[in-house]
Amino acid sequence: MKCFKCGADNLDGASACAKCGSSLIKTEHKMKWYKLLVFFGLPASAALYFFMSFSRLTGLNYTYSYNGNTVKGAEARDIILGMAPGLKTAEIFNGITYLILGLFTIAVWILLLKKKKIAPVSFYIFYGLSIVLSIVSLIMSLGVKPGNNIILSGSADSLKFGAIVSAVIGAVMLVLNIVYFNKRKDVFVN
Ligand SMILES: [Zn+2]
Repeated sequence: MKCFKCGADNLDGASACAKCGSSLIKTEHKMKWYKLLVFFGLPASAALYFFMSFSRLTGLNYTYSYNGNTVKGAEARDIILGMAPGLKTAEIFNGITYLILGLFTIAVWILLLKKKKIAPVSFYIFYGLSIVLSIVSLIMSLGVKPGNNIILSGSADSLKFGAIVSAVIGAVMLVLNIVYFNKRKDVFVN
């Protein structure tokens, strides 16, 4: 059998590695977080990303009121974004970003389910990508000059807030997952 730590070949049934001395007795890992990820977290995230992408690209998240009239969806978006072209670019960028993240989530999910060797690394790359995209989105939203339009200020602020929140969550999750999966390297061997 191969040593989990140094990879040296050892006799079957040996309790410690002859080369590096580390234990060859397989430890049973607690896999609660893994199960939560593959049975709930990742499919739910993918669905959420696809919904957010759809809503950003179709303008589903917009409402515009004037003189007692209310318009929703693409019509409202066109009115609001017509006043701030920078925000429109940021919204399209976000829509495409969410779509990419949704597809990436599906890929990571399949790799984790199959316990592929590259699954943990692909998961880290996913978090890295989400952090980078959040920062880009934040930079783009900083360029939006909403003037004194309250609705527009609200949209730009929610964009900034969303970008900061997802960057921070992404960074924390990245660190926690590296720690978690590093302890379970021997699970992902396919
Ligand atoms: Zn060893």
